Amino acid sequence: MRICPQCQCEMLEGFDVKVEGAAYGIKISAGTGIFAKRLEKPKVAVCPQCGEISLYIEHVDQLRKNRG
Ligand SMILES: [Zn+2]
Repeated sequence: MRICPQCQCEMLEGFDVKVEGAAYGIKISAGTGIFAKRLEKPKVAVCPQCGEISLYIEHVDQLRKNRG
């Protein structure tokens, strides 16, 4: 469960990030360049009260593993 940083109410999770006008999503990567390690697609949580959005990664335990 995610709590809105603005109004402390419960956020709705699990939305996808999409670039308007295209089917592309965005990805988070560690490092830069072609050899950057690709991490999983971020998800979005939306606050139903104030509209605040928050990007997050679901399997953050894997991220910790990858970073050593
Ligand atoms: Zn809010």
